[in-house]
Amino acid sequence: MAEIDVREEREIEIPTSLPILPVRDVVIFPYMILPLFVGRDISIKAIEHAVGENKMILLVSQKDVNIEVPSKDDLYTVGTVGTILRMLKLPDGRLKILVQGVAKAKILKYIQTDPFYIGEIGKVIDQQQPEMTLEVEALMRNVKELVDKSLALGKSFLPDIIVLIENIEDPGRLADLVASNLGLKADQAQSLLEQTEPILRLKKISELLSREVELLLVQQKIQSDVKGEIDKTQREYFLREQMKAIQRELGEIDEKAEEVMELRKKIEKAKMPEKVEKEAIKQINRLEKMHPDSAEAGTIRTYVDWLVELPWSKSSKDILDLKKAKKILDDDHYDLEKVKERILEYLGVRKLKEKMKGPILCFVGPPGVGKTSLGKSIARSLGREFFRMSLGGMRDEAEIRGHRRTYVGAMPGRIIQGIKTSGKNNPVFMLDEVDKIGMDFRGDPASALLEVLDPEQNYAFADHYLGVPFDLSNVMFITTANLIDPIPSPLRDRMEIIALSGYTAEEKIGIARNYLIPKQLKEHGISDKNIKIYDSALLSITTNYTAEAGVRNLEREIANLCRKVARKIAEGKIKKYIISSKNISKYLGVQKYMPEEEIKKDEIGVSTGLAWTESGGDIIYIEATIMKGKGSLTLTGQLGDVMKESAHAALTYVRSRAKTLGIKNSMFSQNDIHIHVPAGGIPKDGPSAGITMATAIASVFTGKPVHKSVAMTGEVTLRGKVLPIGGLKEKSLAAKRMGIKKVIIPKRNEKDLEDIPKYVKKDMQFIPVETMDEVLKNALITSKKKRK
Ligand code: ADP
Repeated sequence: MAEIDVREEREIEIPTSLPILPVRDVVIFPYMILPLFVGRDISIKAIEHAVGENKMILLVSQKDVNIEVPSKDDLYTVGTVGTILRMLKLPDGRLKILVQGVAKAKILKYIQTDPFYIGEIGKVIDQQQPEMTLEVEALMRNVKELVDKSLALGKSFLPDIIVLIENIEDPGRLADLVASNLGLKADQAQSLLEQTEPILRLKKISELLSREVELLLVQQKIQSDVKGEIDKTQREYFLREQMKAIQRELGEIDEKAEEVMELRKKIEKAKMPEKVEKEAIKQINRLEKMHPDSAEAGTIRTYVDWLVELPWSKSSKDILDLKKAKKILDDDHYDLEKVKERILEYLGVRKLKEKMKGPILCFVGPPGVGKTSLGKSIARSLGREFFRMSLGGMRDEAEIRGHRRTYVGAMPGRIIQGIKTSGKNNPVFMLDEVDKIGMDFRGDPASALLEVLDPEQNYAFADHYLGVPFDLSNVMFITTANLIDPIPSPLRDRMEIIALSGYTAEEKIGIARNYLIPKQLKEHGISDKNIKIYDSALLSITTNYTAEAGVRNLEREIANLCRKVARKIAEGKIKKYIISSKNISKYLGVQKYMPEEEIKKDEIGVSTGLAWTESGGDIIYIEATIMKGKGSLTLTGQLGDVMKESAHAALTYVRSRAKTLGIKNSMFSQNDIHIHVPAGGIPKDGPSAGITMATAIASVFTGKPVHKSVAMTGEVTLRGKVLPIGGLKEKSLAAKRMGIKKVIIPKRNEKDLEDIPKYVKKDMQFIPVETMDEVLKNALITSKKKRK
């Protein structure tokens, strides 16, 4: 480093004209030595000129640092004359010079502006050397102390300067020395430079210095705070890293971190409601802190998996085109006109009122009549997913609502499971067998189901396992049942019942011909060129191979036929297989069902009743016999309580009418009576066999035979009134199958005759009655001679 020139400013001679070097962002003071990098053309030329002469140059600051080529007006007029101590050419063409400030000078006039500035200059001298008053001394000492303080606070000064400052006696020079080392802003520095009153200059410096010290103090505080913070986080970081290292050694780290990251991504994707997302994140945070193999971690993992996989915001877009819906229903189902009509009305209302809080559809009817397939068609016509679940035998509330997570092996309830499987939050959700739902000490699934179905509550369905509400209000629930009565009444109240009855043989053949056969042919990869099934074969299937109200087994047997034919064709025996009632046993084996044998002749004590079972209508024969005894009544044939009571009522009625019927009172006290309903393997119940039993009892006591071609159905009261029954359509179909010509029905069921197909009514006579007397009048044969 060059020697610092410490001669008094006044003593220094400077030329009257010098090249001008515009400098940016810095003000050079006398005595200051500093390196400058010079790249601008006008500057390089000025320096080269100066180096060629007396190495002196006027350093003037630029008012705006951003100006690349400053004009005269862009430069301050007061600057510092500097001596170039050293010059170095850099490889990129720039110059590096070391200059020392020598004396302040002012540009009086520009002599040359191109290719660089040369100015006529005049020395700027301090106004006068101040007197060394006490005040001036104190001011100087203050400045020196402030310099020490700022040094202690970390401000850097050149070591030489510090010594110089210590020993300086001239207030103006002290001010300049400090100013040149303070790192002032350019405009501040320039105004100091231009100040020619030494005391004022020093005062200003003192001000700036104390501000600087203050600033350094604050800075130090901030720094120590920050450092403390950094220390803390660093500590934690190191500890965490150490933990990771240990875990890595144990082979735990990577899987877990990866898993957690994966789960977080899934949460983001699932677009859950805010509350649910919070819960999921909370669980993941817990998971993160656990040993990955612990049982609890497993539980949390399954739980979060459930949360992320539920379709919180995935739904199918509804298509509500009634024309299309009608077409789909027609395409999938034979006849069922009334049912389709009601479904379309229901959909129509839905179209008008989007968030319909209306009733839930409930299809009631025997198995295999198309309840499920109607549901599927509804889903298809709405463009929604379809999901079906059976409630049959469900006794535990937890099956609907799930178990709390504290249970071992807890799972969400079946509703939530169904939603997850369907993958959308608005499927058509079919709940089968609502009539078979049970209840016991484990709670009442029906009431949980009520919450699922109730539009007032189901927008926030609370599954115990999930612990967060799920919105079921967009789900379209449809229920099915075989019978109406066993449906718990609070549920029934919320449903719109649509009844489907069993099919007649003709309808079954129609369904088979138009739907089941084409479907099965397709499924077995054969065509109508390979097989021909005659109606006689279909009829034989419905009577001899199946006994059902619907067509489920019929479809199964048709599939059976197709499979046999397909196999033969696959074996190379290609021809058209003709199937009729004659050869059907070759395919389906021996007949499984024999129709109940018809009674050959009119008999005493045997009456024909009509029953309505889950699988449709059927015929039952009721037998009554009396033998010597004490008047007791025996009932056999797996009768339910209602049916037993009904038998007692029938007997009481007959006894009370003994006189009119011509029965001696002693007959009852001296004989035991036994009533049996054959087909003992099948449980029977219900009051609708009342009049049939009363007829059998009256027949056996009076000795009058019963017409074999008369069947009957109706409940009987003690006073001989005939009350209405259900399932007339099914019952009359069964009667038709058995070749019955007359059917006695309760008067109040007359209106149901409307639903009975015409061809059934054509050769069958329905006799509506109000009293038991009328029944007996029509059923018993009086003209023939009595038999014992
Ligand atoms: P459910 O749910 O009432 O027990 P399904 O809907 O499962 O009965 O019906 C059984 C089979 O019978 C299905 O293959 C269905 O397509 C067919 N099926 C029932 N009724 C009809 C009908 N009216 N037209 C066409 N196919 C029918």
